[in-house]
Amino acid sequence: MRVLVVEDEIGLADAIGAILKKEKYIVEIANDGQTGLEYALKDDYDCIVLDIMLPKMNGLDVLTYLRVKEIETPVLLLTAKSEVDDKIKGLDCGADDYLTKPFSTGELLARIRAMTRRRGIVTDINPKYGDITLDLKKGELLCGGSTIVLGRKEFQMMELLLSQSGKVVTKEDFVKKIWGYGDESEYNNVEVYISFLRKKLALLHSKVQIKTKRSIGYCLDGGSK
Ligand code: CA
Repeated sequence: MRVLVVEDEIGLADAIGAILKKEKYIVEIANDGQTGLEYALKDDYDCIVLDIMLPKMNGLDVLTYLRVKEIETPVLLLTAKSEVDDKIKGLDCGADDYLTKPFSTGELLARIRAMTRRRGIVTDINPKYGDITLDLKKGELLCGGSTIVLGRKEFQMMELLLSQSGKVVTKEDFVKKIWGYGDESEYNNVEVYISFLRKKLALLHSKVQIKTKRSIGYCLDGGSK
């Protein structure tokens, strides 16, 4: 999978590049908007990570130009916290998703995976935490030599937990991202599926546990990080 990273903060661009390369992506980096646009027009990428505030040409202009040229490569916009309006403009311009700085490695990889999956691009990065790995293609959870199949909702919930690599996922997040709307029964579903996942982790003899953060949500515990 080929990813273009357009980011003018050299340190951040290199850090993103290193994360993606570690996951076996092929990465190219551009440090200003104009260069980014040239690369994107010249080459075929599976995904573009595009900062908004860029020298020479800003990210939104780059994106608009690409979409006018009918280049439909999935675009993940990077925004600073203060640029709320830009997020909305970005999505209007044809961005697939956005990520607010600062973000975690897990979040970045999860967004890229989700974006490329929506476009039917198959990635082979399976998220890991502690001794568990989620096989995205087979929908299975792996630990040591053991494997267990997850139901659709269980899979989505585990993927969301893994994307936060140990940080809390709120019940609202689960409902919003998996069920898409929120009435009382969906909140009960979250608890039910968490209990299913706990049973499966126990069956796998995993050291990873799903901890309850009372009245907030859930997080993974037992990773080596
Ligand atoms: Ca910038």
